[in-house]
Amino acid sequence: MTSALESASLEASRMPPGGLMVEQVPLFVSIGFDDNQSGVETTLKIFDKYKNPTRSPSSSATYDGTATRVTYFHTTNYNNFGVLTAVWEEAASKGHETGNHTKKHINGMYFSLQQWHEEVGDANTHLLSLNGIDNIYGFRTPFLAYNSNLFKVLKDSRYRFEYDCSIGEGEKASGNGMNFHWPYTLDWGSHADPAIGAHPGLWELPVYALMVIPDAALENYGLSASNSLIQKLGATKITGFDYNLIQKGVSGPEFAALLKYNLDLRLAGNRAPLLFGAHAANYPNEGHEYSVALSDFLAYATSKSAVRVVPFIEIVRWMENPQAFATNSKSAHRVEVSVVPEEVVSGNPCEVEIWSTSKTYNADNEVKYNGKLWRAKWWTQGNEPGNSQHWEDIGECETITLLYHGTTNPTGSLEILEGEDFTLTILPDEGYAVDRIVVNGENFSGTTPLKLSSLLESKKIEVHFKMDSSWRSHTADNAISFDVWAQDQGLSGD
Ligand SMILES: [Zn+2]
Repeated sequence: MTSALESASLEASRMPPGGLMVEQVPLFVSIGFDDNQSGVETTLKIFDKYKNPTRSPSSSATYDGTATRVTYFHTTNYNNFGVLTAVWEEAASKGHETGNHTKKHINGMYFSLQQWHEEVGDANTHLLSLNGIDNIYGFRTPFLAYNSNLFKVLKDSRYRFEYDCSIGEGEKASGNGMNFHWPYTLDWGSHADPAIGAHPGLWELPVYALMVIPDAALENYGLSASNSLIQKLGATKITGFDYNLIQKGVSGPEFAALLKYNLDLRLAGNRAPLLFGAHAANYPNEGHEYSVALSDFLAYATSKSAVRVVPFIEIVRWMENPQAFATNSKSAHRVEVSVVPEEVVSGNPCEVEIWSTSKTYNADNEVKYNGKLWRAKWWTQGNEPGNSQHWEDIGECETITLLYHGTTNPTGSLEILEGEDFTLTILPDEGYAVDRIVVNGENFSGTTPLKLSSLLESKKIEVHFKMDSSWRSHTADNAISFDVWAQDQGLSGD
């Protein structure tokens, strides 16, 4: 291991390491649990339930079929009286990684080398005294507060840390969840925070931004389109920690949906690892809504053949020696499935210019501003519509609502090995039917479920739904009249 530690150096890249193609590499998922003063038992029970997928042929180099495992970054003062020793040891015995989250959980932004040595070194001494914990490879700083002294201490030969996971990633506007940087070494410093300087050989497994589900995609994740998560969180992306969701009142189903959405972005993008920060205390028992959400997300993640839930250090190990998924020299083909939405346009098209602060307007001139149409009452200049008496509010401008009217299973972008069959189940919403199915640009005329036998090329499948006229003619848009119609037809009412 010493040689790997000396030789590791990898510049930050948006592509997988080793020249591998995105389709050939696992999507690594990990959760770093911080603090861990309580709740660890619950999380261990949840991970016990899920195994990583296996591919055919399977390979241990890509963790096929292994138990899902993660990393616990402990704050050791929480174990002052030894009450947590048993559960922290149990986590290690199950193959979860133990990391360092300092001794006293202090904001270290202005720490000296000596202060970092105390916080990091004392915690290491404590953790290494526990049974079954022989190495500490990784560190996360409390409050994500650090300075360059921290990285000098992590590099100190007495500790042998291999990675830090405290620096943000993907926060710039261009970061979209599909193009984040893969982990990198700090040989050239950090592109995300040049102030820390270069620390050759130390890996950075960044704190990735979590993209918030756009309103138009909420229904794809079982959420109501009218309950905007972007509004609730006040942002289109947030730092990827459970705390940031919980403090904004995100519900369990919303929590699970956010993680699933980010997983889907990675699968559609460059497969940079999906790393999420959590606090075990937020999962007090298995029935708690966030425990249910975590379990729901793991079920979803491990249903995707490319996903591997592994501890942070295993991601470092794989990146030091990147291995493609094993193949039978069969190539894989991509099947992309999408539902083409109906665009419902409502409101006024507002085909007028946008209000300009410098322009002059006469009575009855119209402008568009803040999504509304405004009419000047009299000559005006520099008076903001909505904030002055100069403009009459004519109403909302046009908005486009996307209506999908159904779903498919599976959905999204999938990989199918050459020669294998692919079956697509198509599920119209109540009152809707399949309009048409387009496969690689041509109308598909077969029956559903749609079956593609012995796949030899990539396929793009687009499903269009339409209103079911037979259903429509008998009902109004409510369940009661549907029941009446269903009885007429001898159908069950639900
Ligand atoms: Zn913490």
